[in-house]
Amino acid sequence: MRNVVIIGSGCAGNTAAIYTARANLKPLVVGGHDAGGQLSLTTLVENFPGFPEGINGPDLIANMNKQACNFGAEYVHGAVLDADFSARPFRLNIENEWVETRTVIVASGASARWLGLPSERELIGHGVSSCATCDGFFYRNKNIMVVGGGDSAMEEANFLTRFGREVTLVHRREEFRASKIMLDRARHNPKVKFLLNTVVEEIHDPAQHLVTGARLRNVKTGEVWEQPVDGFFLAIGHVPNTKVFRGQLDTDADGYIVSHGGARTNIPGVFHAGDVQDRTYRQAITASGAGCMAAMEVERFLESEGL
Ligand code: NAP
Repeated sequence: MRNVVIIGSGCAGNTAAIYTARANLKPLVVGGHDAGGQLSLTTLVENFPGFPEGINGPDLIANMNKQACNFGAEYVHGAVLDADFSARPFRLNIENEWVETRTVIVASGASARWLGLPSERELIGHGVSSCATCDGFFYRNKNIMVVGGGDSAMEEANFLTRFGREVTLVHRREEFRASKIMLDRARHNPKVKFLLNTVVEEIHDPAQHLVTGARLRNVKTGEVWEQPVDGFFLAIGHVPNTKVFRGQLDTDADGYIVSHGGARTNIPGVFHAGDVQDRTYRQAITASGAGCMAAMEVERFLESEGL
């Protein structure tokens, strides 16, 4: 029987692991399909406090993991395939082995949606990014491309004009999901150029390990052309990793966990941390903060239940 199982090994899960391990609760951390979370897909992180020179995302995650292990946290590879929160102890199917636990911290994150091009995958962290706040700074006076037609794309395009020479917003149709106010803001920004009815067919150049341009196609005219670009940002939505908890944990229409205050879900003893609940901030530091909150709630819960 476990005191706490932490699902996810990004900033939220690792921070929860540090705190619960230090409280002597011997947490079990389930790494997940994308171990290390979104930071493991980035290169330099310059806005995590405490690292004045910046730190590589994977190094930051490895440090957190080491810190948690030093206090006695245990990590397992693989994912939670099924969960039973109907009675206590809770039961989790971890790669076909059922584990019983008194509490759970769901820190399974939200995965950025990608286009799915092989070149895109190869260039993530080398000019391809899903986070303007994280990586915009690297594109001072450069040409930037943003893909998407929702509020995130508008927000990111506007934000990126602080750095870039020009921001080209590529959207696959003429209508936008973005709210009028966000769309108008982007439309009135002289540095944002719109390319509508346009899809990205390829990103160059994996051979050079950097983004040099993109091959675009107009879906109405069929015209195909190459456009030079230095930074390529995806803003086509995120998918919260909550599939295995559906029907048990309260989620909103898009699958994000609905908070019941602090780090609490609708089930006492099951807590949330990080992007799996947060569709607004999505930062490494806010996820870490949420992991800390969840860990403290676990301690209090176990204490109050006399466990
Ligand atoms: P979203 O509203 O779901 O928009 C995603 C956009 O990406 C859509 O325009 C969609 O195109 C496009 N897209 C999806 N898959 C694609 C693909 N494979 N190839 C090309 N384009 C693709 O996502 P979001 O913009 O991240 O917003 C999510 C939620 O957060 C929304 O409720 C939004 O209002 C909210 N939000 C609010 C703010 C704010 O108010 N400050 C800022 C950011 C986000 P189609 O339209 O053609 O499907």
